[in-house]
Amino acid sequence: MMTNRFWRNGRNVMAIAVFTVLLSGNSSAETDAPEKPSLLSSARILEDYDGVPNRNLDEWKKDIAAYSLRHYGVSKWELSPKAIILHYTATAGFPLNLIESRSFQNEAPGVASHFVIAEDEGHGVVYQILPLDVMSRASFGANFCSISIEIVALNEEDLLKKEATLDTVIALVREVMARYEIPLERVYGHSEIDAFLAKNPHGEFFDNTIQGSFVPRKVDPGPRVMARVRFALGGEQRVESGEQ
Ligand SMILES: [Zn+2]
Repeated sequence: MMTNRFWRNGRNVMAIAVFTVLLSGNSSAETDAPEKPSLLSSARILEDYDGVPNRNLDEWKKDIAAYSLRHYGVSKWELSPKAIILHYTATAGFPLNLIESRSFQNEAPGVASHFVIAEDEGHGVVYQILPLDVMSRASFGANFCSISIEIVALNEEDLLKKEATLDTVIALVREVMARYEIPLERVYGHSEIDAFLAKNPHGEFFDNTIQGSFVPRKVDPGPRVMARVRFALGGEQRVESGEQ
């Protein structure tokens, strides 16, 4: 696509196009652009946010193992990632509850995702809350198998306007997919997991505390965000139906 534009507009445009590619770090096979520094390898576990300390990991492991026993029937904190689940925070700023909550719905350990993606002066910023081999608590019915990524946005409309945030999310998802050999089919939106649970609360995604039917509650991050992410990652652009 870029090639067409170049031939139509001439050499100067090509120089600008290549420069843009270098800046954005797109390592397309069509360019000689260098590899973008890995978000995963440069990520460090957050120590604190604005003086609010991140979680004590030993405490989290103990509590999430007990949670796992109640919800998934196995007492373990260890995670082997098999899926990636995207969320938005429904907040304007960094969601402190992800590092300071001690319970949620009267149950420890509180809520925490693996990552929070925010935007600072037009740049996407990656905060890592938990190690990737430790179970998070962000995706009811799927914590046992998934990496959870929270995106700072008020709602789907707000998120769709945040180009730098979306670019960072897509780059991070691509890296997590590569590291754990997770196919695009296993990159989900939170609301899609809820839809799976509603269809079968004791299927591939499940929770032992669900009795009877499950009523979906989540709308994040929304079908247009998921279509955008999937398209960028090389899949078909499709809209979540909630019926699959
Ligand atoms: Zn969510």
